[in-house]
Amino acid sequence: MTFNTDLPIIAGNWKMNGLNQSKKEIGSLLKKITNISKSNVILFPPFTIIETFAKLTENSGIFIGAQDCHHEDYGAYTSAISASMISDVNAKFVIVGHSETRTANNYTNNIIRLKAEAAHRNNLIPIVCVGESDLHRKSGDQFNFVKAQLEESLPQSTTRDNTIIAYEPIWAIGTGNTAATKDIVEMVNCIFSKLNSMKSNKKDIPRCLYGGSVNPSNSRDILSIENIGGLLVGGASLDSSQFSEIINLI
Ligand code: PEP
Repeated sequence: MTFNTDLPIIAGNWKMNGLNQSKKEIGSLLKKITNISKSNVILFPPFTIIETFAKLTENSGIFIGAQDCHHEDYGAYTSAISASMISDVNAKFVIVGHSETRTANNYTNNIIRLKAEAAHRNNLIPIVCVGESDLHRKSGDQFNFVKAQLEESLPQSTTRDNTIIAYEPIWAIGTGNTAATKDIVEMVNCIFSKLNSMKSNKKDIPRCLYGGSVNPSNSRDILSIENIGGLLVGGASLDSSQFSEIINLI
């Protein structure tokens, strides 16, 4: 089972949800998906069940990833999980720089870049999250803020094949306040013009997902936005009916 860089990506971030018993959700999800070969479906369960989920989904068309990684591969970092450990249990992706982990740990863009580099070193594809707060948007600073995040969080080694970006406005995450199409279009254009200025080769420009209160009713419109390569879904990915409905729209 290989990641197909030409297909849309539908990623589900379970955050701090999921126990061993949640493995039955994988069976229900697989039963409800009618078009598994039309997209790359990636689930991000908590660390404790990554290995179980990776075994359960082997060759099913669903990939498994982790929600964060440390920037070093091993060492005296109590409680931390490295990209090498994640790779060791057959996960293929890792989210870095999700706004919830950035805020909780005061992560700088520099740390996010080191995490993305650790992912590359260990054959994981990082989803690098960027997105402005309500305050930045209200002060009209959203574009400069996201451009600086891209400049400082993306490793030199970034290519379309080894990295994914997710634009997740913080005010849209878990609030039910999905960004308006116009706002997504403006920001995605800004992201791609910044990426074009950073990369001389088109093959090095990663794809961009949208995340922030995505659900079955708004996903079709968001997916039809030019240059949106897929969706990063939080809350709605916990429900196999809603998540499969989003996947089946592709
Ligand atoms: C997320 O956690 O990345 C997210 C976008 O959450 P939600 O879909 O619940 O807003």
